[in-house]
Amino acid sequence: MSDIEYCEILKKDQLNYVMSILGKCTENYVYMYDLDNDFYRISENALNTFDMPSCMFYNASEVLSSLAYPADVDMLNKDLEELKSGAKKEHSLQYRWVDKNGNFAWIHCAGIVIDNLEGCEGGHVLIGRIAKIGNKNTADNITGLFAESKLKQDIENNKAREDIEGGTVLRIGVDNFKGINERYGRSTGDDVLKTIADCIRIVCKEHKYYKILGDEFIILLKGEDGIMAKAIYQKIRTTMEEKIRETGYRVVYSISGGIVAFNYDDIDYEKVLHYSSFALNNAKLNGKNRTYLFKSEDYNDHLYKMDIRGILRKAINNDFEGFILHYQPLVDANTNKVIGAEALLRFNSEKTGFLSPTLIVPILEESGLIIPVGKWIFTTAMKQAVEWQKYIPDFKMSINLSYVQIRRSDVVGDIMAAIKEIGIRPETLQFEFTESGLIDIDASMERLMRIFGENGINMALDDFGTGYSSLSYLQELKVNVIKLDRSFVASSTESEKNFKLIKHICEMSQDIGMQICLEGIETDQELKRLSVLHPEYVQGYLYGKPIETMLFSSRYLSKETALA
Ligand code: C2E
Ligand code: MG
Ligand code: MG
Repeated sequence: MSDIEYCEILKKDQLNYVMSILGKCTENYVYMYDLDNDFYRISENALNTFDMPSCMFYNASEVLSSLAYPADVDMLNKDLEELKSGAKKEHSLQYRWVDKNGNFAWIHCAGIVIDNLEGCEGGHVLIGRIAKIGNKNTADNITGLFAESKLKQDIENNKAREDIEGGTVLRIGVDNFKGINERYGRSTGDDVLKTIADCIRIVCKEHKYYKILGDEFIILLKGEDGIMAKAIYQKIRTTMEEKIRETGYRVVYSISGGIVAFNYDDIDYEKVLHYSSFALNNAKLNGKNRTYLFKSEDYNDHLYKMDIRGILRKAINNDFEGFILHYQPLVDANTNKVIGAEALLRFNSEKTGFLSPTLIVPILEESGLIIPVGKWIFTTAMKQAVEWQKYIPDFKMSINLSYVQIRRSDVVGDIMAAIKEIGIRPETLQFEFTESGLIDIDASMERLMRIFGENGINMALDDFGTGYSSLSYLQELKVNVIKLDRSFVASSTESEKNFKLIKHICEMSQDIGMQICLEGIETDQELKRLSVLHPEYVQGYLYGKPIETMLFSSRYLSKETALA
C-alpha cells in the first residue's frame, strides 16, 4: 500500500468517525452522498429505523429510490438528477421514506454540493442532514401534502415574523365529495384527492399548500392578495379539468374556493380556519364551482343568523314560545268578499324583537328546524280555520309549505294525521309551494301531489312570475291556483313583454281549469292594470295586511264579511 493510499483510507476512516459522532449527537441523520460514484454514507442511527444495506453503500440512487415512498420516487430522482448534472447546488426536499415496519416517515432532506472534497472518492459530494419532520399528523397519507399541523406552524411563524405583514389563504374543497365516494367508492374518492393535490403541486410551486380535513386543501400565499388567489384557483381548475378530460370523463367533479386575505396582526390560526371554512362554505352555497372572497360584513351576518338559529331552537323546545301566525285576508275577486286567509309566520321575543319570515324561514330551512315549526304552523292554522268555519262555512286556509318539509320529512303523513285529528274538511285547505324550491318534481313531491289530489286538498304555486315556470311545469305540478307575486305586479308595468308572457300563461292555465290569485295588490291602479288577467282571488294591502288572530276575527268574521 502506498503512502497516498494509506492517507486516503485514514481520511475516510476519520470521516466515518466524525459522521458516527455527529449521528450520536442528534436525532437527525447526517449523510454524505458522493454523486459521481453513487456512494452514500449515513450516520449509523438511521439503521435503527430504515432498511438499509449498511451505513455505507454503493448504488445509492437505487437504494434511496427503494427507501422512498413510491409516489415520491419521481420527485426525488428529478432532484438528484439536477444535483448530479450540476444544475443545482443545494438540495432541500420534503418527502416520505418507508420505515422497517412499512410506515411512512416524513423527512426533510437538506444538503449542499461540495466540489472536490478531500477524502472523498468523487468530485461532487452532497453533504447534509435528514430530519424526521413528524408523524402522520403533519402530513396527509393520501395526497402526500402537509397536513393541518404544518399549516398551524407556518401561520404562527409568519405571525411572529416582522418582515411578513399580510397573507392570503385559498381553501379548496371538492364539490359534493360525499356523492363521489358514495357513487364510485372510496378509492375513486382518494384518486380525485390525489389528482387535485397534483394540480396544486403543478400550479403552486411558489406557494405553500396543505391538505386539511377530508376533502379540503389550503394554499397559503404571501401578501394580502385576493385577486392572485382567485387566479390560482382558476389555474388549478383548468389543470384539473384537463386531467378529467384526459381520463375520458370517467369521474367528473368540480372544486370551490374560499379566499381570505388578511393582515397577520389581526388574525390567528383559529381565525384563519374559521374564516376560510366560512368562505368555502359560501362559495358552495353560491352555486359551487366558484370562489368567494371573505367579507367581514357577511361573516357578522352569518354570526347573527347563528344566534337567531339558537334562539329559534330554544323557542321550539319551549313549546314554540314566540312563534306567531298572522293571517292575511284572501278575497274573492268577483264578490269582493273575504273567503279565507293565508297563514304567515312571525317570531317575537324580548331578545330579538319582531322577526320577519324572510329572515327566519331560510334559517329554519337551513337547519331543518322548519320541519317541527312547519308542523306547528299547519296544526295551528287548521285549528284556527275550524274556528272561523263556524262563521264562514267554506273558509279557506292557505298554508305555506317549504320544500325542506317535503323532501326531508313525511309532511304528507303528518298533514293527513292532523286533518283527521282536528277534523277539518280537506277541501277547505290549500298548501302553497314556491317555484324556486321545487324545480324538479321528485318522488316525494309526486307522492304529495297524488295524496293531496286523492283527498281534494288544494295546491297553489306561490311567487309565480319570479322564477322560470313553464306551462308544462304547471301542468306537471297539478296546482289548482297560481299566485302571481307582488314583484310581478311592479314588473308588469316595466316590461310589456314580461306582462304579455305571463298573461298568456295565465289564460292557458285558466283554460285548463287553474285559478289565478293576484298577490300584493296595494292600489286601485294596480288592480285595474291586472284585472285583464281575470283573477279569481286577490290578496294585498288594498284589502288588508296580515294581522293577528284576534284582530282578524274581529275585523272579518263578524256578521258582515263583505268588504264593500
Ligand atoms: P308569500 O307566501 O308570498 O307571502 C306573501 C308576502 O307578501 C307576505 O310577506 C305578505 O305579508 C306580503 N304582502 C301581502 N300583501 C302585500 C302587499 O300588498 N304589499 C306588500 N309589499 N307585501 C304584501 P311575509 O309575511 O313577510 O312573508 C314573506 C314570505 O315568507 C312568504 O311569501 C313566504 O314565502 C314566507 N313565509 C311566510 N310564512 C311562512 C310559513 O308559515 N311557512 C313557510 N314555509 N314560509 C312562510
Ligand atoms: Mg304564500
Ligand atoms: Mg307569494
